[in-house]
Formats: sequence, C-alpha cells, structure tokens
Amino acid sequence: MRLAERPTGTAAPGTRTGPLLRVQDLSVSFATGSGRLRAVDGVSFDVGAGETVAVLGESGSGKSVTAQTVMGLLPRPAGRIDGGSVSFDGVDLLDRPDSYTRALCGTDIAMIFQDPLSSLNPVFRVGTQIGETLRRRRGVSRRKAREHAIEMMHRVGIPAPEKRVDDYPHQFSGGMRQRVMIAMALSMNPRLVIADEPTTALDVTVQAQIMSLLADLQREEGMALVLITHDLGVVADVADRAILMYAGRVVETGPIREVYDHGAHPYSVGLMGSLP
Ligand code: ADP
Ligand code: MG
Repeated sequence: MRLAERPTGTAAPGTRTGPLLRVQDLSVSFATGSGRLRAVDGVSFDVGAGETVAVLGESGSGKSVTAQTVMGLLPRPAGRIDGGSVSFDGVDLLDRPDSYTRALCGTDIAMIFQDPLSSLNPVFRVGTQIGETLRRRRGVSRRKAREHAIEMMHRVGIPAPEKRVDDYPHQFSGGMRQRVMIAMALSMNPRLVIADEPTTALDVTVQAQIMSLLADLQREEGMALVLITHDLGVVADVADRAILMYAGRVVETGPIREVYDHGAHPYSVGLMGSLP
C-alpha cells in the first residue's frame, strides 16, 4: 500500500460527474491607492481529471491571482473576490473559509511555485519537509515519513536520495531544489497540481528537464496538471489544452496546437511569432 493513499471520505476519481476543477465567471480585485484594480475579470475554465492544461499569458494578465484564489491563498484584505465560483470535484471552494481550501491543498490539490526557496523552509531538512504533510495529516511515524521522502526524491530524479534526505534546501542547485518542491507537492498523491511558472527561475536546459519530469509524473500518476506560464515554448509539447489570458480575461481556449495554429487574438498571434 502506498503511504499517501487517498483518505476515505474524499470521492475517488470518477465517482462524480463533471470536471475536477471548475472556475466560473471568477472576478478578483485589489485595493489600490486610487480605487480597485480588477486583476481577474470574469474568468471561466474547466480542468478535467488527468488533463494537462496550460494557462498562458503575459506578465500581469491574472494567471497567479486566479491560482491563488483557487488555492485559498489570495492575500486579504487587499484581495477581494467580486464574483463567480470555484469548485473542486463538485464542492464549491469559495463558499468555505480559506482555511478549508488550504487544508485541501497539500493533500488533494498541490501547488508548485516559481521559486522553491519561497516555499521551502531554509532551516529544515528537505526530507523533513517532504514528509511533513504525511506526518501531520496521516500521523505516520518520523521514520516512515523519512522513508516516504526518500521514495519521493527518487521518483523526481534526485540522485542518491538516501544521502541527500537530511540536507538543507541551500545545499541543492536550483533545478534540484525545484525537484524537491515537486516531491513535496506530490507527496500526498494529489488529484490536481497547479504549477505557477515552475521553470521560469531556471536555466534553459534545466527548464526542459523539469518540464519533462512534470509530464512524466503526470503520465505515471494521472493527476490533473495546470501549467501556468508566460512562455508558450516550454509547454507546447506537454499540455493538452491551452487557456490564454490577457488583461484578466480568457481570450482564447482550445487544444494547444489549435491555439498556436489558428489563434485569433492578437496576443496569441504575437506569442506564436515567438515560437521557434
Ligand atoms: P500574472 O501571474 O499573470 O503575471 P498576476 O495574477 O500576478 O499576473 O497579477 C494580475 C494583476 O493583479 C496585476 O496587475 C498585478 O499587479 C495585480 N496584483 C497581483 N497580486 C497583487 C497584490 N497582492 N496586490 C495588489 N495587486 C496585485
Ligand atoms: Mg504570475
């Protein structure tokens, strides 16, 4: 049995009809000195179980704020949800306190950020951090959690994990640190992983390695994967579907190749121009 077996009580994949994640007409704004800035403006999209969806758009188009809202991580009180709904497996998340969503996050939903250093605690060993959710949520022993961490590090391609499990985050290179972050995100066998610019902080060669690792893990684990990026090139071969955001709105959506080949919005045409 896998240590991170899904708890009973959460519906098994496929027992509910409808998409795994449904964002409907979501609007989010921030207080600014001179009023409110609409960061997300009537955004709707679905992510099916096991699907890989790219959320594309230039910097400032509302990608991260959308993800933060889904994860219950919207900074309050500056950030405000003005309307719409977000449901995960049929359960409306915006009806519930952020703490509920954050409890779901880390188990059923996991997030990977651009900069692993902002998510990893510098004074805790990576193995402790990878195994922590398992310990906290499932009450497994320290020794078992450490074993699970080693297994996860192995799965994300960290060499000699049994030697590295007691190292600290700063002892890893940027790419290896992102692998630690991915191990942490996947440690609870989530059904949805949202990766917000997971390769942006990395060297070009490492970017490709991390992206293909995510694609491999998606195939092996079957979780739904949302890849947020401003860089069309890094997700072209990985995603099934693309959602293109511009100024807080979804301006284009469809199979990723179709968006590339027949994209009608001037911004997607611009992005296509930058493809090799
Ligand atoms: P993206 O991830 O697509 O680059 P974001 O979702 O981070 O864009 O930002 C969308 C808009 O919301 C931008 O105009 C940004 O400046 C604004 N914004 C994001 N986070 C905050 C915040 N915490 N406070 C105020 N404005 C914010
Ligand atoms: Mg962003």
